[in-house]
Amino acid sequence: MSGKQYVEKMIACIAKRDPDQKMFRDTVTEVLSSIEPVLDAHPNYETAKILERMVEPERVIMFRVPWQDDKGECHVNRGFRVQMSSVIGPYKGGLRFHPSVTLDILKFLAFEQVYKNALTGLPIGGAKGGSDFDPHGRSDNEVMHFCQSFMTELYRHIGPDVDVPAGDIGVGGREIGYLYGQYKRIRDSYDAGVLTGKRVDFWGSFARTEATGYGLLYFVKNMLDAKGIGLKGKTLVVSGAGNVATYAIEKAQSFGAKVVTCSDSNGYVYDPDGIDLAALKDIKEVRRARIKEYVQTHPHAEYHEGCKGVWTVKCDVALPCATQSEIDLESAKRLVANGVQAVGEGANMPSTLDAIAYFLEHKILFAPAKAANAGGVAVSALEMAQNSERLQWTFEEVDGRLKDIMKRIYTNAKKNAETYGDPDNLVAGANITAFSKVAEAMLAQGLV
Ligand code: GLU
Repeated sequence: MSGKQYVEKMIACIAKRDPDQKMFRDTVTEVLSSIEPVLDAHPNYETAKILERMVEPERVIMFRVPWQDDKGECHVNRGFRVQMSSVIGPYKGGLRFHPSVTLDILKFLAFEQVYKNALTGLPIGGAKGGSDFDPHGRSDNEVMHFCQSFMTELYRHIGPDVDVPAGDIGVGGREIGYLYGQYKRIRDSYDAGVLTGKRVDFWGSFARTEATGYGLLYFVKNMLDAKGIGLKGKTLVVSGAGNVATYAIEKAQSFGAKVVTCSDSNGYVYDPDGIDLAALKDIKEVRRARIKEYVQTHPHAEYHEGCKGVWTVKCDVALPCATQSEIDLESAKRLVANGVQAVGEGANMPSTLDAIAYFLEHKILFAPAKAANAGGVAVSALEMAQNSERLQWTFEEVDGRLKDIMKRIYTNAKKNAETYGDPDNLVAGANITAFSKVAEAMLAQGLV
């Protein structure tokens, strides 16, 4: 069977088995369709059923999370952990707390995570977890009770050498703190390496908070530098206002770019003078409020309802840092018509498959999520390393390593893009690099 036929067979098989899992099917399609030449060159992958094994999680855990709110009312949410692959290291990946969380979303994210983590060159497998719990509008006390209940089940499935969760949408330093406290209490053991994204005063890593956003900018800079395009003086559109967006804006500004937008799920802010980062951090990190409030202190800026409108703002570089599928074909067309030169994905799979195809067709420089946003999990792996040696490295040391890792991810993706056809197709380049590494490790470890 040719590589193409093998891939088509797998995608049809997934569609038949789990017809309701569209996001999972899309991410598998994205990865597999770019590795057909690798499959043609390695017929032994089909014999060893490599693809059949890759699309099946090693383990899926689903559980009930009961908790009580401040008024004494009882709630029940769903908890999940999808342990996709441990071939390269302990399962590793974030926890997402958001009402949109389903098994489909977490399987898609866990699948992405396997290949993203392989790209980092560090010893981490792939997983994802979370809950349909919505932390918005909940008090600290309620969030703590929820986290404690969630961990009371999750603790038996994780450990510093088994599975190491971290943050994602809706899970930041506060939640990791509560989760860690409960884990420690149940286990009665100070296993700092069981979670990453901890506060630095109990053995988190310096630069972990900044890592995804900074890493995105390091990757995009490598990509632009190779074309002789600088970031200085460029206009950037960023979506999102969470951890990834905030630190992407910070690093972009330090490179001399002007970032004119940020967004949340209600709408977007356009500030022609450039986003005031201190004000944004105060709204999001201190007051945990909506970005709409930005215009109260910045009357020259505009607030628009509806987050999709952010892609109608004219820019040189677009950085989707909010969530999956936020750039559809229509938004991609609008960005291209407005002269965008490059797109760097900070969120996980923020562009739909047809949007990615449109960017590539129109020769837009495109930095795909699993390569461009790998800085977060890379620094998580450095946090695990620091926890193992019971030492803490300086901010500069971690940031320096992050820079090197992002450069290596870019160089490897570029090299494989060149070897296998289109030198500017970093989607294919990254997928081929990651897939080859995972597939070879699977072959070497036998039929497990
Ligand atoms: N949630 C982040 C991601 O999507 C980080 C995961 C981690 O640090 O384990 O890569």
